[in-house]
Amino acid sequence: MDNVLVVGAGMAGLQTVVALRDQGYAGRVTLLGAEAHAPYDRPPLSKEVLAGKTDDTSFEADWAALDTEVLFGRTATGLREGVVDTDAGPIAYDRLVIATGSRVLSLPGAAEVPGVHVLRTIDDARALRAALVPGAHVVIVGAGWIGAEVATAAAAAGCPTTVVEALHAPLAGPFPDSIGERFVPWYAEAGVELLLGARVDRLEPGAVHLTDGRRLRADAIVVGVGVRPATDWLAGSAVARTARGFVEVDEYLATSMPGVHAVGDCVEFPSARYGTRMHVEHWDNALQAPRVLVANLLGGEQAYDPVPYFWSDQFGRMVQYVGRHGEGDELVFRDAGEDGKWSAGWFAGDRLVALLAVARPRDLAQGRKLVQLGTPVDRERFADPENPLKSTVR
Ligand SMILES: Cc1cc2nc3c(=O)[nH]c(=O)nc-3n(C[C@H](O)[C@H](O)[C@H](O)COP(=O)(O)OP(=O)(O)OC[C@H]3O[C@@H](n4cnc5c(N)ncnc54)[C@H](O)[C@@H]3O)c2cc1C
Repeated sequence: MDNVLVVGAGMAGLQTVVALRDQGYAGRVTLLGAEAHAPYDRPPLSKEVLAGKTDDTSFEADWAALDTEVLFGRTATGLREGVVDTDAGPIAYDRLVIATGSRVLSLPGAAEVPGVHVLRTIDDARALRAALVPGAHVVIVGAGWIGAEVATAAAAAGCPTTVVEALHAPLAGPFPDSIGERFVPWYAEAGVELLLGARVDRLEPGAVHLTDGRRLRADAIVVGVGVRPATDWLAGSAVARTARGFVEVDEYLATSMPGVHAVGDCVEFPSARYGTRMHVEHWDNALQAPRVLVANLLGGEQAYDPVPYFWSDQFGRMVQYVGRHGEGDELVFRDAGEDGKWSAGWFAGDRLVALLAVARPRDLAQGRKLVQLGTPVDRERFADPENPLKSTVR
């Protein structure tokens, strides 16, 4: 092999290129990306960029050392054997890496309404930041991770802010009610109005209409209702995808099409650790998986089977989650009293399988090891926040 093409110039795409050179591949590398920008980091978009602390989140990359042909502002439109079609003509490859990540969802008709924002790209973030002027009424649709971070920035910018959430708690998808109800007061403390069980009927310039008849003034509307894999361009190719559009890979991150691997947000992989197929649309996954993929591309046989990790920065709190919990796992809180810092762990028998830490980074660091190792943990010792987590091992 001497001609690797990487499609998608986000975190996973860039890390693939870096890993190729780090692991000694000396052949040709091409990195193709639809955005006009060099690869940049997304987590700061909803944090530092919206807060006005930075305007540029580009990754530091030594392009000369990476010796990579970069084609930015160019979109893959189709895949045939040995050829990726793009909006500017075909590109041949002998190994292909798909790293096209996620595309952001919006609401029906939103594109025709001025003042409606989504947040996926640096351009989105700059446009939204410009709209967060003091006094501007902001309505955010969705109290998920992005909604909470945007609400934090909007309130800090002096914008009267309302978050509209169809479910009965923030983050009700990933977490049970006993966790979700702990997030609710954070909104009020920040001066943000949180409307739960509220559904959007329609958007119009300057307003959001709810199905219960309420009309919310909105100088800016932010839609934070999730993402889908950006894999439509693979339609008709030999690359198998799930019903939701994730690229199906095996444990080595190889797709169903010979010579084609895939990595990052757009992938669903089998996990022996969790006994299920998983997709992980988080930064750490886009950082770690490319090294495994490249080792396999270069002839290795490394299974990718991570313990997922994720963080969010909302309402002045660092929220971190590691592992994966299921319905049957038992939830145990580690409450540190009135200081607003707490953790919660999920147990399967005497094993800690997941940990959520709110402003307790040491819990996260130590809990991560316990989750990774699967060592038995004493629940009573776990429940007392005075005990360092590493001391709770049985
Ligand atoms: C605002 C925001 C905040 C976030 N905060 C956090 C956080 O706090 N913690 C965390 O763990 N994760 C966070 N994430 C998620 C994290 O950024 C993603 O998991 C990560 O970016 C995934 O990297 P990726 O390279 O797989 O995909 P992406 O970052 O989506 O990159 C894919 C790239 O491929 C390009 N592309 C798509 N289709 C094509 C095509 N047909 N042809 C060519 N190029 C194409 C896209 O334009 C994009 O540049 C956040 C994401 C966003 C948007």
